[in-house]
Amino acid sequence: MSENDVEKKVADRYLKREILGEGTYGVVYKAIDTKTGQTVAIKKIRLGKQKEGVNFTALREIKLLKELKDPNIIELIDAFPHKGNLHLVFEFMETDLEAVIRDPNIFLSPGDIKSYFQMTLKGLLVCHKKWVLHRDMKPNNLLIGSNGQLKLADFGLARIFGSPGRKFTHQVFARWYRAPELLFGAKQYGAGVDVWAAGCILAELLNRRPFLQGDSDIDQLGKIFQKLGTPTPSQWPDLEWLPDFVEYSSQTAQPWRKLCPTASDDALDLLSKLFTYDPKTRITVQQALEHRYFTSVPLPTDPAKLPRPAPKRESHNPRTSDLHEGPTVLSPKKKARRVMPDREVFDGNAYHVDKIDQHGGEIRWAAGDNTSRNEQVPMSVDFSIFGAKPMSRPTINSADRSHLKRKLDLEFQHPE
Ligand code: AMP
Repeated sequence: MSENDVEKKVADRYLKREILGEGTYGVVYKAIDTKTGQTVAIKKIRLGKQKEGVNFTALREIKLLKELKDPNIIELIDAFPHKGNLHLVFEFMETDLEAVIRDPNIFLSPGDIKSYFQMTLKGLLVCHKKWVLHRDMKPNNLLIGSNGQLKLADFGLARIFGSPGRKFTHQVFARWYRAPELLFGAKQYGAGVDVWAAGCILAELLNRRPFLQGDSDIDQLGKIFQKLGTPTPSQWPDLEWLPDFVEYSSQTAQPWRKLCPTASDDALDLLSKLFTYDPKTRITVQQALEHRYFTSVPLPTDPAKLPRPAPKRESHNPRTSDLHEGPTVLSPKKKARRVMPDREVFDGNAYHVDKIDQHGGEIRWAAGDNTSRNEQVPMSVDFSIFGAKPMSRPTINSADRSHLKRKLDLEFQHPE
């Protein structure tokens, strides 16, 4: 059998369905594995022209995911080339944490928040134990399966760390989740960058909105200092040696109670440790998981009982397919999983707000630790607090992308 025949045989195994989303490096499709009947997600990565060489992002993702087998990390089931594209086959995940956070019909109890965050940290701990930095932690990279299990996904920016002196690019993470050492241009950094992003995720779960929303890197630092205060030399002795260090006018930290009004004292204590400025003294993932927040009542909700967005209706996928086209199905629009009911509609590259029920402009927060599930009410959000047009979530700048790709490829080709 020729190489092409083998490729075709593998590709024919999957019945392609609708598009689930689009990442930086390719489209993700839903598909059925006809051999097992399992629903899967297939990421199609353009391999590019021959002269551009191998796609290192894809190789990195495959290499690292093969090392990281865990219930809280997305499973890479298979990888195969077909028609000049590389196809990565993943277990199918129903939704993601961003969709949960943004769904105004979902009430998150303190136990639910604890459970989602505990699974996030458990996945991250496996990465760090294997010396892998994720470098793109954010709610929409935390996928959630039909059993409520949360799994870390999108390892396209992930990287092995731990060799002293090894330099990396600081242009990683979506800006709102970027640690201050990265914003100041650090080239040598460690697991603390993922820990900072985890702190942003916990604060976002608690407040139901992104915690630090800068609209440029400089503004991001400004937003951090406005809330957490400008770091003093005693808090962060190495700060002034960072490549892009600039002095910011002094601001005092706001009380955590004010920043996250609905959080328990334990949650606030954990937050303050996740947001430690000096990466050398920032809490580790292991220490965070051992924090009393996870053992105090209410205990983390059983994942199977966690609230998740209502399943989407499927509709016909009009796109032509390279893989074996499946039966006519009902499929949602492109980027469907990022479209939140009554909140934002993803329209090309711009978000716009749909008409929403403002519920008299009231915000109903997840109440204190003793809220029972019977008292659950759907969260209603006053969208005027977001302004007329919610800020679109920054990812890695598209302008930075080819530059970043070159840097990532160099990191991959020249491991010390
Ligand atoms: P990525 O390139 O990994 O960021 O994926 C792009 C988008 O595809 C994500 O934002 C998800 O909406 C969707 N997606 C990725 N992996 C899966 C999966 N395993 N199951 C379901 N949807 C996925």
